[in-house]
Amino acid sequence: MSETQIGFSIERRGLDLRFRTVTLTAREWLAPDFVRVRLSGVELAGFDSPGADDHMRLFFPNGPVESVEELRAAPSREYTPLAWGEDWLDVEFAVHGDAGVAAPWAAAAPFGSSIGVGGPRGSAVLSGTPGSWFLVGDETAIPAIRRFAALMPSDADARIVIETVSAGREIDIDAPVGVEWLHRGAAPSGSALIEFLGGLSGDDRVGDDPFVFIAAEQSIVKPGRALLERWGVDAAKAVVKGYWKRGEAEYHAPH
Ligand SMILES: Cc1cc2nc3c(=O)[nH]c(=O)nc-3n(C[C@H](O)[C@H](O)[C@H](O)COP(=O)(O)OP(=O)(O)OC[C@H]3O[C@@H](n4cnc5c(N)ncnc54)[C@H](O)[C@@H]3O)c2cc1C
Repeated sequence: MSETQIGFSIERRGLDLRFRTVTLTAREWLAPDFVRVRLSGVELAGFDSPGADDHMRLFFPNGPVESVEELRAAPSREYTPLAWGEDWLDVEFAVHGDAGVAAPWAAAAPFGSSIGVGGPRGSAVLSGTPGSWFLVGDETAIPAIRRFAALMPSDADARIVIETVSAGREIDIDAPVGVEWLHRGAAPSGSALIEFLGGLSGDDRVGDDPFVFIAAEQSIVKPGRALLERWGVDAAKAVVKGYWKRGEAEYHAPH
């Protein structure tokens, strides 16, 4: 009698770092503060992103650039590749106001504007099948959550919890389980998630051998790690990450 292999691990893979120039060709607003854009260009041939929470660096030059060096000198921010083909790449942006470089570009740049894409230069790939799934994040984590949700079996033991401002900002997410939306209202980003995580006890563990992904404003990291401890989850089999930091432009998450 053969036994089904259960269990999973997170495998690190290096990728060749490449820089590509792409052009904005489409924009679709999914909520008043959340936009999907399509980046197009022949240089996207061969683009790959094997890990669901991979990130690439988007470069926003002021005008046309002549070299990769010039491109790399432009302001850059980290984003999750959502979906791609031979000559297109879709990216979703939380539009958080007028501050910053990336979000205002995604919201308002004219079609035909060019930016650079660097990477992804490494991936963390789920190998095997988690016994259960616990995916938690704010708007910036929606693309990674979508990609993880696409890996779940249809009968997955899972919870997906996403924080946004209010009911009017919720977005359709394709997943085998319904998304539990938390609303922060006028409270700071992350506060509803922090309260939610803090209220979970060891008995609330989502299921056996869970894969845990928690990503939001940096203050989520402490309560996220505390939850891993309460649930007895090995940090090597989980992702708990600050995707941005309040009051800090161009935040670099520790890897
Ligand atoms: C691994 C990884 C993957 C990521 N993937 C995505 C993704 O797919 N989609 C996505 O939208 N974001 C994603 N992010 C987050 C994104 O990189 C940051 O939000 C980034 O700071 C936005 O750049 P900006 O130029 O718009 O603002 P910045 O110039 O970096 O910041 C300007 C100001 O805005 C604040 N700010 C930044 N982001 C937010 C926010 N979301 N809400 C409220 N205030 C904010 C900053 O604290 C600062 O005060 C990811 C981050 C990481 C680390």
